[in-house]
Amino acid sequence: MAQIFKGLVCDGEIAVTVIKSTDIVNKAIEYFNLSPVAAAALGRMLSISSIMGYELKHDDDYLTVVLNGGGDIGVMTATASSNGNVKGYVTNPLVESFINEKGKLDVKRAVGTNGKMTIIKNMGLKDPYVGTSEIVSGEIAEDFANYFARSEQTPCGVSLGVKISPDGSCVSAGGVFASVLPFASDESISAFEKVFSPLSNVSTLMADISAEEFAHKYFDQVGLKPIDKTECAYVCDCNKEKIDKVIISLPKADVDELIELDGQIEVVCQFCNKKYTYNKQQAYEVCGFKE
Ligand SMILES: [Zn+2]
Repeated sequence: MAQIFKGLVCDGEIAVTVIKSTDIVNKAIEYFNLSPVAAAALGRMLSISSIMGYELKHDDDYLTVVLNGGGDIGVMTATASSNGNVKGYVTNPLVESFINEKGKLDVKRAVGTNGKMTIIKNMGLKDPYVGTSEIVSGEIAEDFANYFARSEQTPCGVSLGVKISPDGSCVSAGGVFASVLPFASDESISAFEKVFSPLSNVSTLMADISAEEFAHKYFDQVGLKPIDKTECAYVCDCNKEKIDKVIISLPKADVDELIELDGQIEVVCQFCNKKYTYNKQQAYEVCGFKE
């Protein structure tokens, strides 16, 4: 399981959330056979999306992030629930992996720096909250920090890391999200910056410890007070009933054409690659069509 740990630092003036997301990233790799750079990019996005989902207040709240930087990975999508469970996918899971000048997977090159990200929060209201911001770096963490500053007027720090081993699996993934509360003093902010800025290499720093241990190790020095913690995972909740709704929306002519072509209709879940198939009789039954 992945873990999320939440606390307050600097006399309650800054909120920090830490996620250890190795298991989430490995599940995505298992489902989509992600190339190393696709795993790094989607892994970072799943990690911060999980944290943001956990920030939502009600059980049924959820959010969706759509990020399109114009790079070869295509569109990146993630959906997270308020329990921290998350799922996601990218257009091109096999995007070629390049190494940047720092010797790391070149996430920026795969994601691109020319585009937008949109966050849709469904919080039980009539209309969802929709926020948009430009892609400013393509490295994901900076793009989310920019989103919070621009779209939600929340100054914050975001650090995300995904370490991929030569065999293509994820050895360590994690993230830290720190948001500055409105009443925070300049002294608190500068004290926190001193402990936060060395944490850019978060996947390495978290390799052998839990999210909670990480929080204590780096934030006890700024007065960490735990709030809560949870376990979460990559969870796809697709089922036949949900896929039936996709089939029901098809006109009879389309159903007949698909059956004619392939002998059946196949729907693949974008979030877990599970295949759902309908033969003619099953499709007709779901749609209420007669011969
Ligand atoms: Zn699914």
